[in-house]
Amino acid sequence: MSALLDGGTAPAGAVSPAARSVLDAWREEPAGLFTAGEWGPAATGGRRTTRDPATGAVLADVADAGPEDVGPAVEEARAVLEDRRPGSWWAATPSARGRLLWRVADLLAEHAEELAQLEVLDQGKTLATARGEVAGAAEQFRYFAGAATKLTGTTFRPSSPVPTHAAPGARLVASTVLEPVGVVAAITPWNSPLLMAAMKVAPALAAGCVVVLKPAEDTPLTSVRLVQLLVRALDEAGLPRGAVSLLTGGGAVGAALAEHPGVDKVAFTGSTATGRAIVRSAGRPGGHLPRLTLELGGKSPAVVMADAEMASAVPGVARGVFANSGQVCVAGSRVYVERRAHDAFVEALAGVAAGTPLGHGLHPGAQLGPLASPAHAARVAQRVADGVAAGAQVVGSGGPVADASGGGCFFAPTVLVGADPTSPLVQEEVFGPVVVVAPFDDVEEVLAAANDTDYGLAASVWTTDLRTAQRVVDGVRAGTVWVNCHSVFSPELVKGGRRTSGWGVENGMEGLAGYLEAKTVCSLV
Ligand code: NAD
Repeated sequence: MSALLDGGTAPAGAVSPAARSVLDAWREEPAGLFTAGEWGPAATGGRRTTRDPATGAVLADVADAGPEDVGPAVEEARAVLEDRRPGSWWAATPSARGRLLWRVADLLAEHAEELAQLEVLDQGKTLATARGEVAGAAEQFRYFAGAATKLTGTTFRPSSPVPTHAAPGARLVASTVLEPVGVVAAITPWNSPLLMAAMKVAPALAAGCVVVLKPAEDTPLTSVRLVQLLVRALDEAGLPRGAVSLLTGGGAVGAALAEHPGVDKVAFTGSTATGRAIVRSAGRPGGHLPRLTLELGGKSPAVVMADAEMASAVPGVARGVFANSGQVCVAGSRVYVERRAHDAFVEALAGVAAGTPLGHGLHPGAQLGPLASPAHAARVAQRVADGVAAGAQVVGSGGPVADASGGGCFFAPTVLVGADPTSPLVQEEVFGPVVVVAPFDDVEEVLAAANDTDYGLAASVWTTDLRTAQRVVDGVRAGTVWVNCHSVFSPELVKGGRRTSGWGVENGMEGLAGYLEAKTVCSLV
């Protein structure tokens, strides 16, 4: 069984003075909402306490917005979008927007350690993972900083006949102009809060949109800090603060944002169930049909051929599913291993699982932290118990691990075999450090199994045979396929899901296109 270091507590003095002072300030006076260019309380005065999932300790309070805060925030955001005066957001050149985003990246880098610690405390992930995500968030801003000045339209001659009223010699000239989509509601989940926020805020601002950010209610802290740093950068640049707003609050705030007619686009990352609710709300009679980008759940397969380099495939597959305690949308939670390598692979994977030390994310020896909340840990435990009741067997150890606080969020990495392919354990997202492994005999068979869920987010194939790799790449239904790696992210790698894993893409220039609308101008000249 994986060891739990120091009962899940952080070593004394592990929290840096910078992170401590942020938390102390928000314990005294809750972090506010940011609307109409000002920080302030929720309309009801409501506040929400956020806790360290490893220990249950209170971290800080944030303003708890309700649906009543949404209308005023969106109307203010629209006013900023529609202001055409000198000094307005509209008047900011692409270069100015690019410099703004680069400055935000610098500020994120300057505050990297504090942000990483806040993410660990709020979400539970390890410091190494959090540091990687903060660096990744800064990279999002740098990539889209450069993209802001690369947005150009086209001019061309259309084929249509020249209208009969045209003067002699007149002809048609057309252009396609790229305009910002407008007010963007960016709604994010709790698994990688800062990175998810950066993936939406950076391209939206690069495109010239204004953004209302609604982080997940359980993990708001780094989103508040992001907006504070963004406001600082806007102030330094002399740009309107109202280009960004922040509503910390629950799902009802997200739902109200998705319904508000002043929101032009909903950029959502979260569960498929919530994605469906947003689609229903967007499509309701009389609704305004906002643009939607939906980055939803997954149940991603990892296909391991017997010719794979096992010395890297075993730890690679383990990282692909256990990283961030499995709370990763692309987690490779179904592993298919070619039959002749299956038993040895299972033994090796279970060995990695058993040898992974759990602990508080700020514990230097911890390789996995707790799950993000007691309620989520209970869901993960239930899903495993149901799978076992339906015939799956746990290999070695795994499952819930008692901690000193009794908070119940620690869950040891768990390897299962013999799971019923139709059971929820195989078909549904567990979002915990839980993997099901099954054997296969040939590529056709494994492709059928890999594609046998409603999801289509990501997949990986592990092999030294280029032709086999290509067959899997071609045959697997997924938005991303990794070869001999899993969960590699970068702002230039387009990310999106097939089927119930989502609509549209994020990242890359294709992701930026989701924050733009083409306007055709056709002139008789
Ligand atoms: P969730 O759907 O419960 O919540 C996500 C966000 O939506 C939160 O901010 C929440 O407050 C808000 N929300 C809740 N109800 C809403 C509604 N009716 N309308 C609008 N907003 C609403 O998801 P979660 O549990 O926070 O996150 C985990 C899920 O996110 C997993 O399914 C995971 O796979 C998915 N995810 C996907 C990606 C991706 O890129 N595809 C990345 C990370 C996480």
